[in-house]
Amino acid sequence: MIRLQFCGAAETVTGSCYLLSTEKHRILIDCGLFQGSKAIKERNYGEFPFDPTSIDAVVLTHAHIDHCGLIPKLYLKGFKGPVYTNPVSAELAKILLPDSGHIQEMEVERKNRKNSRAGLPLLTPIYTAEQAASCLDYFQPIEYQEEKEILPGIRIRLQDAGHILGSAIVEVWVNEKGKDVKITFSGDLGNLGQPIVNDPTEIDTTDYLVIESTYGNRLHKIKEDKIERLKEVIIKTMKKGGNLIIPAFAVERTQDLLYALHVLLKEGTIKVKDIYLDSPLAVATTEIFCNYQKYFDTETKSLSEDGTTCPFYLPGLRLSRTAEESMAINKINGGAIIISASGMCDAGRIKHHLKHNLWRPESTILLVGYQAAGTLGRRLLEGEKQVRIHGEEIAVKADIVNIDGFSAHADKEGLLNWIRSFKEKPHKVFITHGEKEASHEFAKLVSSELGIDTEVPEWLNIVEITPTKRNIPVTVASVLKAQEAASEAEATYQRLLVQLKALVETSFVKKDYNNINNTLKQIEKLVNQKLMEEKAG
Ligand SMILES: [Zn+2]
Ligand SMILES: [Zn+2]
Repeated sequence: MIRLQFCGAAETVTGSCYLLSTEKHRILIDCGLFQGSKAIKERNYGEFPFDPTSIDAVVLTHAHIDHCGLIPKLYLKGFKGPVYTNPVSAELAKILLPDSGHIQEMEVERKNRKNSRAGLPLLTPIYTAEQAASCLDYFQPIEYQEEKEILPGIRIRLQDAGHILGSAIVEVWVNEKGKDVKITFSGDLGNLGQPIVNDPTEIDTTDYLVIESTYGNRLHKIKEDKIERLKEVIIKTMKKGGNLIIPAFAVERTQDLLYALHVLLKEGTIKVKDIYLDSPLAVATTEIFCNYQKYFDTETKSLSEDGTTCPFYLPGLRLSRTAEESMAINKINGGAIIISASGMCDAGRIKHHLKHNLWRPESTILLVGYQAAGTLGRRLLEGEKQVRIHGEEIAVKADIVNIDGFSAHADKEGLLNWIRSFKEKPHKVFITHGEKEASHEFAKLVSSELGIDTEVPEWLNIVEITPTKRNIPVTVASVLKAQEAASEAEATYQRLLVQLKALVETSFVKKDYNNINNTLKQIEKLVNQKLMEEKAG
């Protein structure tokens, strides 16, 4: 018997983890960290809902922490199997997992200071940076499209999900008692037409589909021309003689910015003395992206002059790794673009750059990502005139500008269209990786629009996966109706065409051209009648 258990990202966005068990084997798709509310984060500390030593392998969709962040804990609890993932995700995990360990150490240190003062027991981090680093040797990269039998009777294939570089859709075939069942996990699905990454791959067929629904009940706003807006902001700031400070997430958003800057520099529409990338994590991520240019989309590849130089290494780009290098940037009075982390201004080096620029009317702070409630970024966005940084009161006199970053997730139309692109309708769709409301609304949409059986599993739900009879073409009720209507019109048209042909022939033979004229008038009458009907109905 094949079973699928939803161990995370069920009626919530984070903690992505699915347990697929057969008679003989057990594999996990993702093993992510729970993030967000205190109640959700609590799940990171308890025991896994399965015995980690019983797991044979992990397949990882991508390197975001909510998908891979509990892999180090899995090793600490006794799992010793391979983690299959795309080569870029394996590389990104090498920097992101130790970073996550470091963040947890710092958090626990802060909490323990409070706990010792309150006489409460001390906590230990879920894993440390060092422990995270020690599990990385088990990662086994596999290329997109490569089919691999990871265990007897279990084959997998990764396909580009277009979400972040290296992100994958996972196809799993399980053969039990001579019958094949296919389960497809969408992972996080990207938007169409994003820079750097390709569009999500269309999959032919699957018996069961597990799909994310982060934006399952939302449509993205009409995208503003991000590059054009960036150009205006740069020109204005440079004219005033200030610095342009951009808080940005290290993975993907920073590279999106470098891509946009490359386009503008190439056009010759902006002039900037220096561009600083001041975040060791962003520098390391950019380096990894540059080593894997073969995964870039065609547009991004075409930015590279000779096909090998990385399009993110712009002329005048200065990479700042050490604390000294970072501190030197604080002395720059104007004319520089400074990209730094964290993306929401609540930690890291960006706070120093804000301290040195917020009070200067000639500088600009450009927000390009989501700013969560309570963060310094959110307060700036909401127009606060005075903020506190490192215990010092700072006046906000710089321009605060917001450019809505493109989301790395498909919206409900994007998700629905991706399901539509299957050549055969999946037997059943499980909706996961979304807030409760988003998942349930999307489930309704999938069943009403596509006529597919859907389910929104609750956390820890187990479902049975049985071989299905497929070969049902993907047809929507509305598409069927349109097809019927189209075939009716087509039949009328064919009939008229035959009549017309016969009339024209006989008229020419009889040299009776009036006849043709009459027929044409008849057709005209018929067409007008049809048009009237259309308008009325
Ligand atoms: Zn993601
Ligand atoms: Zn995710």
